[in-house]
Amino acid sequence: MSLISIVVPCFNEEASIPIFYNEIQKIIKQMNSNFELIFIDDGSTDATLETIKKLNKIDNQIKYISFSRNFGKEAAIYAGLKNSVGDYIVVMDVDLQDPPELLPKMYNYIINESYDCVATRRVDRKGEPPIRSFFARLFYKIINLISDTEIVDGARDYRLMTRQMVNSILNLQEYNRFSKGIFSWVGFRNKWLEYENIERFAGETYWSFWKLFKYSLEGIIAFSTMPLSISSITGFMFCLLAFALIIFLIIRTLMFGDPVAGWPSLICIILFMGGLQLFSIGILGQYLSKTYLETKQRPIYISKEDNIKK
Ligand code: UDP
Ligand code: MG
Repeated sequence: MSLISIVVPCFNEEASIPIFYNEIQKIIKQMNSNFELIFIDDGSTDATLETIKKLNKIDNQIKYISFSRNFGKEAAIYAGLKNSVGDYIVVMDVDLQDPPELLPKMYNYIINESYDCVATRRVDRKGEPPIRSFFARLFYKIINLISDTEIVDGARDYRLMTRQMVNSILNLQEYNRFSKGIFSWVGFRNKWLEYENIERFAGETYWSFWKLFKYSLEGIIAFSTMPLSISSITGFMFCLLAFALIIFLIIRTLMFGDPVAGWPSLICIILFMGGLQLFSIGILGQYLSKTYLETKQRPIYISKEDNIKK
């Protein structure tokens, strides 16, 4: 019988964990496999760890890792994948926005149709503020335009993968982890399952608009170097423009003399060029700072407490 590892990142989820556990038990009973549950407490400030430990007392199939601080969902996913031993591994949110009922179907696809990965995407964004949906869509348009790695709109981190695929994901040791890109970058045969958005049943989302914005910039920087080219291309275009302008001015002066006028336009041009230069340096700085962080080779997470047998 094969072993399925369920990786569950948790950040301040004391309310959701018991309900999630009950739901997942129903699915586990339906399926003819062994299971291990790995809860990652991502530096929660509420009773998340105590709740997990309480469950662990009644169910010793539960593994947990508790981080020394909040390292973010990406780090939690990495820790879970790394400490899983299953033949098949699934990443699932604890707020039941990733419907556990899909798991048997996902498993069937992998077993019977030899997919390496069954991933899920939501086809709508019901219950989300319209402005957030708008920017989310815009983000996917932009990143797919400028990145070679396909980032699917609405893709969740909820996916069932083979051990082989998980091992390749673990081989990507980068510190700035943008999972949606990493899952796609490693390749393998992927099947998409679609479902309608389900609202969180307890607790609240950690993602503010600002956090999402920073996260999307991270995704773009991690999976595309196009912004760097864009700044050099615009720089080059402006050089050409300036050159043409110089020639035009010389000819005009030779033909009509030089009536001094137009300093407002001059100021505008100076401001515009200055802004453009700062913007380009900013882009450069973003890449440089990421490179800087990568060269430090810091660990992706620090475990304060766990029950993983080494
Ligand atoms: N999460 C985490 N670390 C964080 C933020 C979130 O482990 O820093 C977990 C959270 O507990 C949940 C999952 O990641 O299980 C998805 O988070 P959330 O529901 O806030 O995101 P959304 O569903 O709104 O995208
Ligand atoms: Mg959620």
